[in-house]
Amino acid sequence: MERVDLDLSREVRALGAGDLDACYSCGVCSAVCPLSKDEISFPRRMIRYTMLGLEARILASPEPWLCYYCGECSATCPREADPGGLMMALRRFAIRRYSVGRVADFFYSAFASGIAWVALTAIAIALILVFREPDANREQVEFLSFISLENIHVAGVAIVAFIGAAFLANMWIMYRAMKRGGRGAAFSIDNLRKTTRGAAREIVLQKRFGECEDDRFRRWAHILVSWGFMGMFLATCIIAAVDFEWIPLPRWVSLVIGSVSGAATLVGLGYYVRLRFDRTSPYAKRSHPSDWVFLALLALSVTSGYVMLAFRFLDMPAAAYWAFAVHLVAVFDLLMSVPFTKFAHVIYRPAALWLAGVK
Ligand code: SF4
Ligand code: SF4
Repeated sequence: MERVDLDLSREVRALGAGDLDACYSCGVCSAVCPLSKDEISFPRRMIRYTMLGLEARILASPEPWLCYYCGECSATCPREADPGGLMMALRRFAIRRYSVGRVADFFYSAFASGIAWVALTAIAIALILVFREPDANREQVEFLSFISLENIHVAGVAIVAFIGAAFLANMWIMYRAMKRGGRGAAFSIDNLRKTTRGAAREIVLQKRFGECEDDRFRRWAHILVSWGFMGMFLATCIIAAVDFEWIPLPRWVSLVIGSVSGAATLVGLGYYVRLRFDRTSPYAKRSHPSDWVFLALLALSVTSGYVMLAFRFLDMPAAAYWAFAVHLVAVFDLLMSVPFTKFAHVIYRPAALWLAGVK
């Protein structure tokens, strides 16, 4: 017999959903949703599951990951129940439930998240204090004289291993939840090929975003942030490979890729920050504190990267090393929280597309 969680709608509301009790099932939201198809009724099915407290069915559903939060359903809902806001809240709910050991709970409650961010930052600062070189070059900026290449390499490998292990565990929980609900695509080579192709196309072009009619620039802002982040990651990998002499590339290659990607990320981020500040779009009406932390950390990671390069250009070693330390702390906080915060959708969304059997 299916378990009913009577507290579910209260928990989802605390995660940013609107007043679901106002919904009288008129179906307008499903009629206007550009993603609503016969077999997937956006977003009414999720409203029903939430009101009935059917946690297992929510966790077995790909819908919260497929919704692009265009807000059309919320804008047209005659009862102002904000069904689009519910989809975002259900994402946060799923991130909490899919996370191994429920670690994500720490990032989604006001008090615990404060402790989690302070703890992560303290760990990052402690690591820098332990691993920084005592004789950093004071004559000219040389970042690897502040923290050695070997230490950065060890830290990088450890962080990537942690993220990979956490995501594997989280994905396993998600997979089991979807399978239990009978929502995953049946496994066959043909299905695998078809769904992988569909998911890859969607990740690269994010075409479904374009189906949201209210604001087409949001698709491009999302593409800028996603591709910008991947570009910065690529630039970091290239610079490490160059420093270790694994690949014979000039350093400016990674500098150009990193700078262009960082600029793209900032443009996309700027758009999202403006949207959340002016709160006119349904998308930005109910920002959760975790959304702001994510935006702030990403912005700090990028800008501190530019600042440290600027200080190097100005030949100011002490300022450059401070900026480098801030950059490392911001990147550490951002990366370590990836599997447990909003950023996790970079994995869950493609996985949901894949498990749901994209057409
Ligand atoms: S959320 Fe609003 S539009 Fe959707 S079924 Fe309920 S009342 Fe109607
Ligand atoms: S926010 Fe947009 S995509 Fe999501 S359920 Fe509402 S109308 Fe559909």
